[in-house]
Amino acid sequence: MGMDASTRNIGAHLRQRLESYAGKPIVYEYGRVVSTGDGIVRIDGLSHSRNGELIAFDGGLYGMAMDLELGKVGAVLLNGINEMRVDSRARSTGRVVEVPVGEALLGRVIDPLGIPLDGLPLHVETYRAIEQPAPTILDRQNVNEPLQTGLLAIDSMIPIGKGQRELIIGDRQTGKTTVAMDCILNQRGKEVLCVYVAIGQKISTVSKLYEQLRAASAMDYTVLVVATASDCAAMQYIAPYAGCAIAEAFMHQGRDVLIVYDDLSKHAVAYRAMSLLLKRSPGREAYPGDVFYLHSRLLERAAHLSDALGGGSMTALPIVETMAGDISAYIPTNVISITDGQIYLETELFHAGVRPAVNVGLSVSRVGGAAQRQAMRKVAGSLRLTLAQYRELQIFAQFGSDIDPATKKLLDYGDRLTETLKQHQHSPLSLSEQVGLLLAVTGGALGEIPIKSVRAFNAELLKHLNGVCRIPLGEIERTGLLSDGGRAAIEKAIADCVRRFKAV
Ligand code: ATP
Ligand code: MG
Repeated sequence: MGMDASTRNIGAHLRQRLESYAGKPIVYEYGRVVSTGDGIVRIDGLSHSRNGELIAFDGGLYGMAMDLELGKVGAVLLNGINEMRVDSRARSTGRVVEVPVGEALLGRVIDPLGIPLDGLPLHVETYRAIEQPAPTILDRQNVNEPLQTGLLAIDSMIPIGKGQRELIIGDRQTGKTTVAMDCILNQRGKEVLCVYVAIGQKISTVSKLYEQLRAASAMDYTVLVVATASDCAAMQYIAPYAGCAIAEAFMHQGRDVLIVYDDLSKHAVAYRAMSLLLKRSPGREAYPGDVFYLHSRLLERAAHLSDALGGGSMTALPIVETMAGDISAYIPTNVISITDGQIYLETELFHAGVRPAVNVGLSVSRVGGAAQRQAMRKVAGSLRLTLAQYRELQIFAQFGSDIDPATKKLLDYGDRLTETLKQHQHSPLSLSEQVGLLLAVTGGALGEIPIKSVRAFNAELLKHLNGVCRIPLGEIERTGLLSDGGRAAIEKAIADCVRRFKAV
């Protein structure tokens, strides 16, 4: 019977982990496999197994206990789906699934058990069980520090705080992954570690992503946890918990961590497949009854810890894919109700060239202004409202021929604001750059720039500000405050730039 490499790898890894607990007297209980198929095994004779416990089978195969009945256990296989045979011997191990944690993981690509996928050796001492209780209320403090995404549309109108859970939701190919990636890229030099969990994606997509992160030197502070579409359902199921445990360990060291789950729709599908094979009764959309708990227990682990616990934080960006914009489907509504807000990306906006394709009306951050620097609050105060009015007027303006001057003015302003909010992928903006761009558009300086030149002008303006306004920009970065002096200096530079831009 030939065993494939991954089956052997996983088997060897788990055996080694279990052997590291030697020295403690253990009484083993043995059982017998009575049926196997599609990665699910039923075992007779194990009466003391616990939920989530690792089960070792003959021949280096391992599984995880999922269903406990009297004297019977239903388990999902972590390796060797095609090698499992009826009548194999099964042994409960007394251990749960664990992942390696710590500094050594930065820059690495691992599977949900911590086995390296990048071909390099991994030396770690510390392991952590992938399932953990969430921090209690007393363990936490308010979310009050911004997590800069570097995306103007998000930082100005849907600000995210450290320790918050913000959902990124939208149809396929609307730039969801790109938003999360840009956010990771923007953490360079910001003392925020990142964990990106890829669930059920194609291997080629993940390796492209890895290359992008590496090219941008973002792997220095990032861990990739990968269970691809070709991995078994059990691996896809445990992937986000494994990533979360890794992030959690950093958080408990007092560090700030950003974790991306890409995506939880595929995670739910993997769990549904497992549950149906375990013959659990299907509910709405054939998901099992506990699919809400699947994601709530994961996302509850994001937190901003109290100072007594070191003050670290875990910010979670789960991603959910919708079908035809239907955010009232089962998984989307569940995750919306668990998170502290959502960034809603829209196909129509995406195809109209508004990228990132954020629908500001349907997006919200329940932490809001508390997680914004004063400088940003000062210039972004009324953006959401203005943009909403603009979108409404735009619809009417399509029909009306004679538009009164006040409406015309708002439409012109909205057009320029929309142009300003467009942003290329992988080009995050710093806080002070964002403040500069917003001062220009809200101050009306763009009024004299033709719409099709707005993006070119903004690029020019950023260059100009980074040259002549280094001191006020630096002040914003350092203090988060926009002083009257700084504002005056930036506004003067903007006016100069408009004059120069019009002259050429
Ligand atoms: P999927 O549903 O396949 O996971 P997705 O919603 O994650 O897709 P992305 O993969 O992030 O979408 O983006 C889709 C495509 O759009 C990519 O080719 C990406 O390069 C491009 N794209 C995304 N955002 C931008 C942007 N701001 N500017 C230019 N191109 C973008
Ligand atoms: Mg994607």
